Amino acid sequence: MKIAIGGLKQETNCFSSVPTPESSWAVRSGEEIFALRGTASTEIGGILSVADRCGWEILPTLFAHTSPSQPTDKKTYEKLREGILAPIRAHKDTLDGVILCFHGAMTVTGVSDPEGDISAEVRKLIGSKPYMITLDLHANNTKETVDAVDAVFGYDTNPHIDMYDRGRECALCMEKTLAGTWKPVTAHCHPPMVVPTINMRTAEGPIHKLLQRAFEWEQQPGVINVSVFGGFPYTDCDYTGLNIVATTDGDPALAKQICTELGSKAWELRQEFIKQLPDIPESIRLAGEKLKTNPALPVILADVSDNAGGGGSSDTTMLMRALLEADFPDSAVGCIWDEETVNRAIEVGVGNTGRFRIGGNFHDYGEPVETEATVRAITDGTCRCYGLMGRGDKFAFGKGVRLQVGNVHICVYSTRRACNYREIFTNLGIDPARQKVLLIKSRGHFRADFEPIADCIIEVDAPGAVNPNILRYPYQNVYGWPVTEVPADWQPE
Ligand SMILES: [Zn+2]
Repeated sequence: MKIAIGGLKQETNCFSSVPTPESSWAVRSGEEIFALRGTASTEIGGILSVADRCGWEILPTLFAHTSPSQPTDKKTYEKLREGILAPIRAHKDTLDGVILCFHGAMTVTGVSDPEGDISAEVRKLIGSKPYMITLDLHANNTKETVDAVDAVFGYDTNPHIDMYDRGRECALCMEKTLAGTWKPVTAHCHPPMVVPTINMRTAEGPIHKLLQRAFEWEQQPGVINVSVFGGFPYTDCDYTGLNIVATTDGDPALAKQICTELGSKAWELRQEFIKQLPDIPESIRLAGEKLKTNPALPVILADVSDNAGGGGSSDTTMLMRALLEADFPDSAVGCIWDEETVNRAIEVGVGNTGRFRIGGNFHDYGEPVETEATVRAITDGTCRCYGLMGRGDKFAFGKGVRLQVGNVHICVYSTRRACNYREIFTNLGIDPARQKVLLIKSRGHFRADFEPIADCIIEVDAPGAVNPNILRYPYQNVYGWPVTEVPADWQPE
């Protein structure tokens, strides 16, 4: 059997300060994709594990991803799209199936729904041969995408730690389909809901409830997969929002029934997605109160609005400034994206003190912090990450430095990323478990690594591109905006 694999992944944040030039895309073309063989934290790793066992001939197309940021330009998109489609076009007669890995919340200037666009073209090229996809839990899926594919496998975890498992599940479905055992069909339901990502954890809350029901369905005969997508609200498109996709074995009515039930349940739970967070002064006060009880583990201040994993610049300064003023002993910040500061710190040298302008480079959500600081450590940023998200895989965080201002140690890196790994701190000589206060720039994925070593987590309402109060953003395209206009008696079709 000959299977084409590839993928295109971005979670586009239309309110992000960070542009998405072609150079920001990490692209693996053709055989370069095989470098992901054996990785435990990627869908491709899972797909290839099944492919190797089945003895499939793999046609590697293109696999590209970039961090969440502004929409990609059309020219870059068309190049990436062609990287996936050209090999499929050239081999369409000999291919037996296609598996692509998308994020599902990408948008492009001039192409509203790239996943639907690519999927429709794949379907055109391969006719009725099986075509299956994996998606992130935050995917904003369209009917076009779901109609074009035979089966859909969305992440079941948030923090996302099941990419390998979903890739494997997708490939196992391909195996059974090629053997003629299954004939997968899909259905889709999209209640008119755009909900913040702050309460989309899978350990508790509304998504947990929906997933429990999805898992029950998955135990029923004829059900292949039920995926609950919280959606990504900062992608300003007319299809943005929570949605459900069910894949059954040749039973479209059952798939539809599952989607209708879960879509209605999501609609009933809609108020549970809303969460009010303390503002910056209140959060600092809460942290101070907690410290008086002398907790054994750190108090975490989560700067959820500046999560690079959702399009934040990871350089907003309002919360950090408040922490510097509070000057709690044994505090650390992870991590600020500021290449200039990193280079300047390397020039100043470890043990020396200099003047710095830290963060705030985009000015959209806060100004730089101008201060004297002592350089405490420098790292080249390459390491293995051993937490639940890293799974022992290799990472390159870029050059990093640790700056000390009063009692606060600030980890600054030359590349942008959410602080989801303890190694962001340990690379720079800080044991995060031994701090009193950690300011973590991340929305939720940090929990996989940091929840076990936290006394408590205080999620803070601070300025940024991913603030949970989504009514603050100037939406233009989202369905039924403002949300209060959505009919309260909505029923799925
Ligand atoms: Zn996600």
